[in-house]
Amino acid sequence: TSLLEIKDLHVSVETDQGAKPILNGVDLTIPQGETHAIMGPNGSGKSTLAYAIAGHPRYEVTSGSILLDGEEVTEMGVDERAQAGLFLAMQYPVEIPGVTNANFLRTAKTAIDGEAPAIRTWMKEVKEAMENLRMDSSFAERNVNEGFSGGEKKRNEILQVELLKPKFAVLDETDSGLDVDALKVVSEGVNRAKETTGLGVLLITHYTRILRYIKPDFVHVFVNGRVAEEGGPELADRLEEEGYDRYLVDAA
Ligand code: ADP
Ligand code: MG
Ligand code: MG
Repeated sequence: TSLLEIKDLHVSVETDQGAKPILNGVDLTIPQGETHAIMGPNGSGKSTLAYAIAGHPRYEVTSGSILLDGEEVTEMGVDERAQAGLFLAMQYPVEIPGVTNANFLRTAKTAIDGEAPAIRTWMKEVKEAMENLRMDSSFAERNVNEGFSGGEKKRNEILQVELLKPKFAVLDETDSGLDVDALKVVSEGVNRAKETTGLGVLLITHYTRILRYIKPDFVHVFVNGRVAEEGGPELADRLEEEGYDRYLVDAA
């Protein structure tokens, strides 16, 4: 099985005032097949971690490493990261004018596998995956994310996960803006990918709600750009009751 390791990671974000340190030594180890929830107050650096893993140009890894099966991810380009088996669902998914969803998916699949999928089986797979996610078939021919509602974008992210079959998916606030029915459909998709491909999940969330549908194996509490506490699923239950206040008091 594959292993995603984050070791003493320090990351700065580029701002108008210069580089601002956000992550201050993050350590995480995620074996494929496990679901790790990253929880924490707003501004604690959760999205920064997601962007750093994805290779967003504004986020600079100043020290430490991100290893996928021992390979240094921070030295890979964005496409290489996808080819290596990483998937990042952007917190605000981008629109791609003039490119249909179906074409985008096939191009991405081709880039990741190094060869184009056979058209007949691919079309069938896309159709089935869209039905599973209760997406209208018209989404295949619409431009990527253009005019999609928040909930539709989230479904589309999970559609990508199910079709591109990464080893690890980093899902940042996948639950935000979803009503309970959409949340269930999206969570089912993640759980299908866990069962069928042994997907490893880094599930970033402020709220515990999504953890009722996607069960975490481990919970890591993020405060001030580092992991402040770790535990099993029971830690999420405690956060639900107590919130993040006591961590913030500790940090002050
Ligand atoms: P979270 O996802 O936990 O809410 P973020 O990673 O989005 O936290 O942000 C962590 C901190 O980094 C915040 O204080 C935020 O204001 C700051 N930050 C993130 N991105 C930028 C940016 N592009 N410019 C300036 N500050 C940023
Ligand atoms: Mg640490
Ligand atoms: Mg965030």
